[in-house]
Amino acid sequence: MSKAFASQADLEEKQVSFTQLSDHAYAYTAEGDPNTGVVIGDDAVMVIDTQATPVMAADVIRRIGEVTDKPIKYVVLSHYHAVRVLGASAYKPQHIIASQDTRDLIVERGEQDKASEIGRFPRLFRNVESVPPGLTWPTITFKGEMTLWLGKVEVKLLQLGRGHTKGDTVVWLPQDRVLFSGDLVEYDATPYAGDAYFQDWPQTLDNIAALKPRSLVPGRGAALQGEAEVAKGLAGTKAFVSELFASVKAGASAGQDLRRVYRETVERLKPTYGGWVIFDHCLPFDVTRAYDEATQYPDPRIWTAERDQQMWASLEG
Ligand SMILES: [Zn+2]
Repeated sequence: MSKAFASQADLEEKQVSFTQLSDHAYAYTAEGDPNTGVVIGDDAVMVIDTQATPVMAADVIRRIGEVTDKPIKYVVLSHYHAVRVLGASAYKPQHIIASQDTRDLIVERGEQDKASEIGRFPRLFRNVESVPPGLTWPTITFKGEMTLWLGKVEVKLLQLGRGHTKGDTVVWLPQDRVLFSGDLVEYDATPYAGDAYFQDWPQTLDNIAALKPRSLVPGRGAALQGEAEVAKGLAGTKAFVSELFASVKAGASAGQDLRRVYRETVERLKPTYGGWVIFDHCLPFDVTRAYDEATQYPDPRIWTAERDQQMWASLEG
């Protein structure tokens, strides 16, 4: 029997945790579903990645309300993916902040990505009708680095290199040594790499490690607390990305077609990574992008709902 497309068969609700990591940082995590980060400053709250819909974001807002009555003024988008950004309107923020590279991706492929992501993983878009028409637009963009002061709390937004997308932004609290990585780092969850830069990603992870975070909130999976857990999360993501790209490059340079490279790469990776959530969902997209990067496409091609289905049929059919 062929596999159900992407995550259309994944219907099981996950348990949410809201974990305090430092004086100012909280992690909203859900057993491998997309995470949201929260920074509580002296005078305002910042939310990092919004959840997929305003109805889902309402649960984040409820949790924040249980620990502070300060207003949510800022939303930061770690990258452009729909599942991270479409809940933004619920927070009624004064500002939505993203890298210029992330805004460029929203302009170039935001609409296609929205249709594609909703089709791939309906459960993650609970009450999708609550998403306002159109896209989530940043009101402030930056290049490379930006610092916000929430009172005396320093919040750095950093582009440490390309990886999961070209616009990846991490949020770093130097005083608390807490880092919010977006999908650059995953834990017990498979990195999605359909829009990735495989060549660059490992160095970007080394740049995160160089900050020496004490806690790290990954894009998916439990919050990592303590330097040993942080190192484990970084190493696991780096190993997955490196092994997948090495496998695909070897097949491509031997002249193998994508379908064969896909089969062999899945076989190679499954014993180590097959237990991570969304492994079966991600691998066809990840291998397709890696094959593109290893052959003729330095930049990721745009995924549309139609291209998703064609790719799936050609690799899994
Ligand atoms: Zn993503």
